[in-house]
Amino acid sequence: MTTEYPVYGRIDGPIVIIGFGSIGKGTWPLIERHFDYDADKLVVIEPDAGQANFLRQHKLNHVATALTPENYRDVLGGLFERGKGFCVNLSVDTSSLDLMKFCREMEVPYIDTVVEPWAGFYFDTTENAERTNYALRQAVRDEKARNPGGSTAVSCCGANPGMVSWFVKEALLTLARDTGRKIRQPVAREGWAGLMRDLGVQGMHIAERDTQARRKPRPRGTFVNTWSVEGFIAEGFQPAELGWGTHEPWFPENGHRFDTGCQSAIWLERPGAITRVHSWCPTPGPQFGFLVTHNEAVSISDYYTIGDAGDPEYRPTCHYAYHPSDDAVLSLHEMFGSGRQQTRHEILDVDEIVEGIDELGVLLFGHEKNALWFGSRLSNDEARDLAPYQNATGLQVTSAVLAGMVWALENPQAGIVETDEMDHARCLDVQRPYLGPVEAHYTDWTPLQDRWEHFPEEIDESVPWAFRNVLAT
Ligand code: NAD
Repeated sequence: MTTEYPVYGRIDGPIVIIGFGSIGKGTWPLIERHFDYDADKLVVIEPDAGQANFLRQHKLNHVATALTPENYRDVLGGLFERGKGFCVNLSVDTSSLDLMKFCREMEVPYIDTVVEPWAGFYFDTTENAERTNYALRQAVRDEKARNPGGSTAVSCCGANPGMVSWFVKEALLTLARDTGRKIRQPVAREGWAGLMRDLGVQGMHIAERDTQARRKPRPRGTFVNTWSVEGFIAEGFQPAELGWGTHEPWFPENGHRFDTGCQSAIWLERPGAITRVHSWCPTPGPQFGFLVTHNEAVSISDYYTIGDAGDPEYRPTCHYAYHPSDDAVLSLHEMFGSGRQQTRHEILDVDEIVEGIDELGVLLFGHEKNALWFGSRLSNDEARDLAPYQNATGLQVTSAVLAGMVWALENPQAGIVETDEMDHARCLDVQRPYLGPVEAHYTDWTPLQDRWEHFPEEIDESVPWAFRNVLAT
């Protein structure tokens, strides 16, 4: 029996996929399934020779070049015709901002999954404040403010950042329903922010537990992950960052604010991947997560701000609390302990993974029902059945890229947008068939629980969800 897949639209002209790593390779079959386009016009820009065989076997046009600040206009300009095609940027080491600006000049729709900088930025930039996602995102927001409207460019539309912003809205509607409120679904930012405030939400974790594992033990000296190793190392070495809520009664000693831009987030003088936080997911219950910086921590706290940027009336705390796969945790431990990055990198392949799920959701806390986790609990086994060439982590990302592309085709003149600013219901309609169980779970757990009584810590019992209590000492 063959499955019929919905075709969401026609893309005339070239579809250019930049980067054919774990996400690019998984996105391609979804594009093939869900869009009508001329297959001979699809082009992959991928410098790694390791992908050449696969691309040849599948008759995909291949430009074996790394994009650089010097060549990107020529390479992309040689592929695109004005007003036609789609640019799908799934690479590392290319500037999302420069590529997005170029595509908008050419009136070609554009999508990416992070605000990525050119090669060298993450480790060669000396000032920590400049190495933050706040700074990277603000540059995109400034470009949006300078050049509003125009050809659509979707910024940061993966799983997180991306899909989780749509989950926040679903979680708010779920919480409103479960607390007996009769509300109309908001249509604009102010309405959503008002709903979050009125529901008493103090903040949220992007709470993730990845339990995918293979049988072979991790070889020492190898960084093993379920998605880009390079991407994870880069973000793990950036300073920890979080959207800083108005309910916070304390300020971390190593914390820094920003005095320009949206001012929604702060950064800590410490790498995110060794900054542990107490958090909660349905499978493990309480767990340690890493406060790895992510664009959505800044964008969500910005989107739900009420009042002045510098002195808001309401703003939620928002940050990532990431428990990656156990092999990735060991890889981080080895890397930070030795002070050296491993030179061997491995991404767990869908066919070698023998168990596990990627449980990725939003944990909204501080309201009358304490905390609500809402998210996807996709297993690797389900991912294997749903789409080729990707594990559960990959499919949560690539299906968000698909949803973002559909939305961009349906909204071709929306300018530069983040996922908070898109129609979350439409995007989830497209994405949901690929997410496995999407569930809501309430918990009465708070970060005040599960402490070690032999080692009392300085915590603030009057505000259970204060970041002071969430941050592990
Ligand atoms: P990957 O490391 O598997 O693949 C990245 C690819 O980019 C590689 O094949 C590499 O050769 C290619 N590349 C490197 N330099 C390039 C250049 N200058 N020009 C063109 N291509 C170049 O990474 P991945 O797991 O596929 O992730 C891709 C991107 O997606 C990363 O930026 C990652 O951070 C992001 N990502 C986002 C999410 C999300 O949920 N938002 C999740 C996973 C990954």
